[in-house]
Amino acid sequence: MTQPASPATTVPAPRPEVAEPTAPWEATPEFLAELAEHSARLETATPEEIIAWAHQRYASHLTMATAFGPEGCVILSMLAEIAPETYVFNLDTGYQFQQTLDLRDTIARKYGIEVDMLQPELTVPEYEALHNGPLYKTNPTQCCFDRKIKLLQQGVRGKHAWMSGIRRDQSSDRAAAAIVGWDKKFQLVKISPLANWTKQDVWKRIISADVPYNPLHDQGYPSIGCWPCTRSVTAGETDERSGRWSGTAKTECGLHTIQEHDGSGI
Ligand code: SF4
Repeated sequence: MTQPASPATTVPAPRPEVAEPTAPWEATPEFLAELAEHSARLETATPEEIIAWAHQRYASHLTMATAFGPEGCVILSMLAEIAPETYVFNLDTGYQFQQTLDLRDTIARKYGIEVDMLQPELTVPEYEALHNGPLYKTNPTQCCFDRKIKLLQQGVRGKHAWMSGIRRDQSSDRAAAAIVGWDKKFQLVKISPLANWTKQDVWKRIISADVPYNPLHDQGYPSIGCWPCTRSVTAGETDERSGRWSGTAKTECGLHTIQEHDGSGI
C-alpha cells in the first residue's frame, strides 16, 4: 500500500497556536503545560471537533494507528469527512484475524481511506523459526515489541502527532488518557478523540452511521488483537479487554501504556 498523496496543496499549514518545537521534540514544562491547556479545553469538544483541531494544527504531520477496532472504525468514518488524506497505518503483525484484514478493504471501499499495512521485517514462519517456535507463548512482551512497537515507531517516523481510539472507560490502564497529551515513549503528541466516549456511544454511532465493524464482535470478542492472544469472553466478564492475553498478567501490548511523570501524556 502506498501513502496517500501529499496533502500539501489542499491542507492549510498548521496554525501557530503554540511555539512548535522542532524535531527532535523537546518536552519542556512549558510545552507540556500548553498541551494540557489544549486538552482541558477540548474536554467538552466532540470527537469531530478534536479531529478537526488536530488536523488544522498538525496537517500532514498527523497520523493515526488503527487495529480496526470499533473506535478506530468510528474515527476513520469521521476522518473521511474531515481529513481523508491523513496517513493511517495498521500494525500488521502477521497474526491478525482474516476478518480484520477484510475490514481494511471494506473501509477502503466505503471511505476511500487506504490504511497502510505495516509488516515486520521477518514473516511469521521466519520469526518462529528464529525463536524455535511462537514467541507469543513464551515471551509475548518481546513478540509485541518486535511485531507491534517497532512498526509503530516506523509508522510515526517524521510525524508530530498520532491519534488513537482509546477510551478512558476501557480499562484501568487507560483511565488517565488525556485528550491531548505527550507520549513519552514515542516522543509525539498523542490525541485521543474518543477518550470521553463510552462503549455505548461508540456502538450508537456505528449503528446510526452504518460504520463497518469487525464481525467477530458479534461472536463474543469485545476487543480484537492478534488471534493467538485473543479469545471470546463470557457474559460475566465485564472488562472488555479480558479476552486479551488471557491467563497472563499482560493487559497491553505497550502502545498505550501510561508513562510516568510526563504531564498529561500517555
Ligand atoms: S498480541 Fe500476541 S501475537 Fe500479537 S504481537 Fe503481541 S504477543 Fe505477538
